[in-house]
Amino acid sequence: MQNTVVIAGAGHAAGQTIVSLRQGGFAGRVVLVGEEPYLPYQRPPLSKKYLAGELDVPRLLLRQEKFYAEHAVDVLLNTRVTQMEPAARTVVLSNGDRLGYDKLVLATGSRVREVSLPGSHLPGVHYLRTIGDVDRIREHFHPGASLVIVGAGYIGLEVAAVAVTHGLKVTVVELADQVMARVEAAPLSEFMARVHREAGVEIRCNTGVRAFTGDTRLRGVVGSDGVEIPADLAIVGIGILPNVELAEAAGLVCSNGIMVDEYCRTSDADVLAVGDCTNHPNPLLGRRVRLESVHNAQEQAKTAAATILGRLEPYAQIPWFWSDQYDLKLQIVGFSSRSEQAVIRGDPESRSFALFFLDEGRLTACYAVNHPREFMLSKKLIALNARPDPALLRDTSVPFRDIAEALER
Ligand SMILES: Cc1cc2nc3c(=O)[nH]c(=O)nc-3n(C[C@H](O)[C@H](O)[C@H](O)COP(=O)(O)OP(=O)(O)OC[C@H]3O[C@@H](n4cnc5c(N)ncnc54)[C@H](O)[C@@H]3O)c2cc1C
Repeated sequence: MQNTVVIAGAGHAAGQTIVSLRQGGFAGRVVLVGEEPYLPYQRPPLSKKYLAGELDVPRLLLRQEKFYAEHAVDVLLNTRVTQMEPAARTVVLSNGDRLGYDKLVLATGSRVREVSLPGSHLPGVHYLRTIGDVDRIREHFHPGASLVIVGAGYIGLEVAAVAVTHGLKVTVVELADQVMARVEAAPLSEFMARVHREAGVEIRCNTGVRAFTGDTRLRGVVGSDGVEIPADLAIVGIGILPNVELAEAAGLVCSNGIMVDEYCRTSDADVLAVGDCTNHPNPLLGRRVRLESVHNAQEQAKTAAATILGRLEPYAQIPWFWSDQYDLKLQIVGFSSRSEQAVIRGDPESRSFALFFLDEGRLTACYAVNHPREFMLSKKLIALNARPDPALLRDTSVPFRDIAEALER
């Protein structure tokens, strides 16, 4: 067992690492170093209930302040780890201090991908990753204001749903030919685009951004088609980049994320990495992946804590994710691709259905819209490499539990 664990980054993965270390009986020193002014918090509500003003900061926190005091965690907020010194097993902090470690956990997460275009630094052009970002957006998030969202991924569409519900005039500009293009599930993209359009959101696909206009503040967004869309506010949601620079500068192997093994160990024996910043092997998928999800942050954190505690428990999870838009709870498990067979169970018109993907008969993904049972059971079926009969999947007169049970036998 190690004496001092330093955790660089204070997001979801860091918070869970601490919980799992203490629950697992780690009695050594734990130091949490985070550059944001907040204790580890949940980001998913930022583009949902926090943006809508329905949640306050204490309810975003993974654990309240007293948890860290009661579990003897040294918390350094507003502090950045600026450098690793692996040979000396120390890190350098933004305040100039040095901290020694026996094990270092990199939980540096990811940051938004920024655009560099004429006018992109005008006040009124925003990104959405932190509490601070949303607080700034909310200053101008008023009924009647014109909002242009750049990027129709999950975050862009969640923001669109909250904004149009709050009476903003919302336009979404998307470079791809459909919304949520990354999930490669065309029937779902078509359904979500229709839901948003019916709610009053204008969606412009096949359109990039040429410039942001305005003198002292944003006034409009010029699309690649040359059309200027009036805007009081723009929110750019075009993806994230893993924060690997600290690891890279210290010579750790990185490639689209910090490379870790199934125990969250990096190429340095004393350094582990967890969450959005990692590129990790997934034996159930048979390949390496870099994921951006709470589930991954939590599960890798548990794995890393077990590794530090001397119990090697390989990370093997089928990835899952969720998104809330309007009255729709979208739950996604697995990965699909355009070449796979798509099977719909239920009627999208009813706003409750499941979309399955089959790769040569094998279930690879389930996208459930207000259909939690299909989502829950598909998690197991994908891990089992199940081969459901497409006709049965379509047949809503056969309970999904029966289909799943037959396949689990
Ligand atoms: C708006 C939004 C909505 C989302 N919705 C969902 C959802 O519905 N479902 C879902 O599964 N996932 C969702 N996600 C993704 C999910 O929140 C992330 O996958 C998760 O937060 C990753 O946790 P993490 O700890 O790896 O990284 P992060 O949460 O990014 O935390 C990393 C922290 O480390 C800090 N840091 C970085 N470098 C340093 C350094 N050198 N020194 C000190 N501190 C440092 C960062 O500032 C940050 O605070 C959403 C994300 C966002 C932004």
